[in-house]
Amino acid sequence: MGKINPRELRERTISILQEKGGRSDLEDITKKTPINLYKAFKIKDSFDIANLDSILKKDFKNPVISLYLKFSGDNTYRTDKIYLTQFNSLMKEEIKNKKQYLKNLNTEQKESVRKDLKDIEAFLIKLKDVTKEKFKSLIIFKSEKNLNIIITTLTDLYIKNKLVIDPNPYIVPIIETLKAHGTYLMLQVEPKQAIFYINQLNKIKKIKKVKIKGGFQKINIKAAGVPGKSQRDRRNQIHLFYKEIANNLDEFIYQKQYKGLFILGNKQNLKNIQNYLSYEANKILLSKIVTSPETTLKEIREKVDKHIQVKEKEEEKNALKALTRELNKGNAVQGIEAVIEAQNRFLCREIFLSENSIKPGYSCIQHNFLSLNKGKCPFCKNELTPISNLFEEIAEISRKYHIPTHIIKHFKKRARKFGGAAAILYPLDLE
Ligand SMILES: [Zn+2]
Repeated sequence: MGKINPRELRERTISILQEKGGRSDLEDITKKTPINLYKAFKIKDSFDIANLDSILKKDFKNPVISLYLKFSGDNTYRTDKIYLTQFNSLMKEEIKNKKQYLKNLNTEQKESVRKDLKDIEAFLIKLKDVTKEKFKSLIIFKSEKNLNIIITTLTDLYIKNKLVIDPNPYIVPIIETLKAHGTYLMLQVEPKQAIFYINQLNKIKKIKKVKIKGGFQKINIKAAGVPGKSQRDRRNQIHLFYKEIANNLDEFIYQKQYKGLFILGNKQNLKNIQNYLSYEANKILLSKIVTSPETTLKEIREKVDKHIQVKEKEEEKNALKALTRELNKGNAVQGIEAVIEAQNRFLCREIFLSENSIKPGYSCIQHNFLSLNKGKCPFCKNELTPISNLFEEIAEISRKYHIPTHIIKHFKKRARKFGGAAAILYPLDLE
C-alpha cells in the first residue's frame, strides 16, 4: 500500500466525518416552493422548517445560493443598511473562494448564479419596505425558480454570517441549530375541537385538528323517553373526543422526539384532558397553560417561551456539570487554544462556547484548520485567511461534523472560568 499524504488523508477524513444518513420519509418541500423571494417572505411563518432536511436529498439543476445574515447589535435594518455592505463582502469573498467551481459551470448555470445574487441584493434593498418585523436573523436558500426559502427568527441563533454558492443548499448550520433547540409540541384543547402545533425556535405551526364527532342528536331524539340517556350520550361523546385527542397525541410523540409538551385550554378542558394523558405524554409535559378565547397568539408565545427558557437553563446546567466531571477526569480541555487544537485533530465529542466571546484568528476553510496565529495551512500550504471570530468558526465547523454544540447563554460566569470555550474529547487510548 502506498503512503497517503497528509492533505489527502485530511480531505478523506473530512468527507467521512461530514456524512450522516438523513431521514427518508420527508415530504419534498421544493415541490411547492414559491417562485421568488417576495412570495417566500410572505409564507415564511407557515414554512415547514421541520421538513427542511428534505432539500438535502434534492438535486438542483443550477447552483444554490445560501445566505445567513445576523441582524443584531448595530446591524438592525430599521436604522441603516449595514447588512447590505455585509452581503456584498460575503458575496465577493465567496466568488473568490469558488473561482474554480464558478469557472466550470455552463452558461446557463453561470447566468443563474448572477441572477440569483442580483435578486437577493434587490430583495435586501427593499426589505425595509416589505416588513417592519424586528427579526434577529435572516436565512435565504435560492436557486432560480426551483428553490426560494426564507427563514427569519426572533431569537439570536449564533450562526455566523455566510454566503455559499454550491450545488446543494448549505443547510447544516440551521439544521444543527434546530436540533439543539429542539421541537416542542403544543396542544390546544377547546370545547369542540383540539389543535396540535409544533414550536421550533418559537415559530408556531399548526399540524392537526381533531373535532368532536357529531351525530348524537338523532339518537337523543329516539331515546327521548329514556331518562338520563341524553346525558349519557353527551358524556360518551366527550369521552370519545378526549380519547381521540389522546391517541393523536401519543402518535405524535411516538413519531418524533419532542423536547416538551404544552397543553393549553380553559380550566375545565385542562382538567378533562389530564385524565387521558398517557405515561409518555405526562413525561414530556412541561406545562398546562390556562387560556381564554381572548388570549392572543403573542401571549401564548411569551408564556411558552418562558417555560422553554427554564428548560434550556436546566439543560445548560446539566451539560456544564458533565463538562466539569470530564474535566476532572482529564477527558476534556478548556480555553480557546486547547479547543482549537483538539478540533483541528477532530477529537471533540461535545463543544461548549460562551455566547458573547469574540476572538479574531485565522483559518483554512477547505481543510477546516483554525489558528490563533498567522501562517500557512499544514495541508495545502496556502496562507491562512483572517477571520473575525474564532468562537463562531468553531461552532460552524462543529455543526458541520454534527458535534453537539452548547452555546452557553445562562451561565456566563462559569463559561468565563473555562475561557469561553471547552470540549469533551474522544478517548485517545483506543486499540
Ligand atoms: Zn488548507
